[in-house]
Amino acid sequence: MALERTLSIIKPDGVAQGVIGDILNRFEKAGLKIVALKLTQLSLQEAEGFYAVHRARPFFGELTEYMASGPVVISVLEGENAISANRDLMGATNPAEAAEGTIRKAFARSIGENTVHGSDAPDTAATEIAYFFATTELVN
Ligand code: ADP
Ligand code: MG
Repeated sequence: MALERTLSIIKPDGVAQGVIGDILNRFEKAGLKIVALKLTQLSLQEAEGFYAVHRARPFFGELTEYMASGPVVISVLEGENAISANRDLMGATNPAEAAEGTIRKAFARSIGENTVHGSDAPDTAATEIAYFFATTELVN
């Protein structure tokens, strides 16, 4: 077991559906502690920087325009195996393949507009957290 931190984003479709509270409740019920939290709208440039790893993918333009299209809720979650615990709560990228009980099964409308982001490994979690939060914005 490892105490980890991971970056979560409630994407524009999640905020628009009014399920911020539902999703944050799932994190807390699963034992993930919210150690940083903000509501903001990304510029296209910020979205492109965040998803730079996907720059060569055919859906990059669609993805970044979507991520900048409305408010998002960005948080840092902390807990035992937080990275995989959050991925388990999220469900598969494609909501058609997401398991019952997951966030994407409940709310995602398409593989693009899939309600939540979660870091996928310790190195990307660290990079993604630093992309959005100063260390002084994380509580202990
Ligand atoms: P995940 O968010 O589950 O880690 P990826 O890292 O593979 O998934 O992709 C990042 C995001 O890009 C996805 O969450 C989704 O919003 C978008 N995306 C992935 N694959 C596609 C696709 N085939 N068409 C459109 N958008 C996609
Ligand atoms: Mg990913």
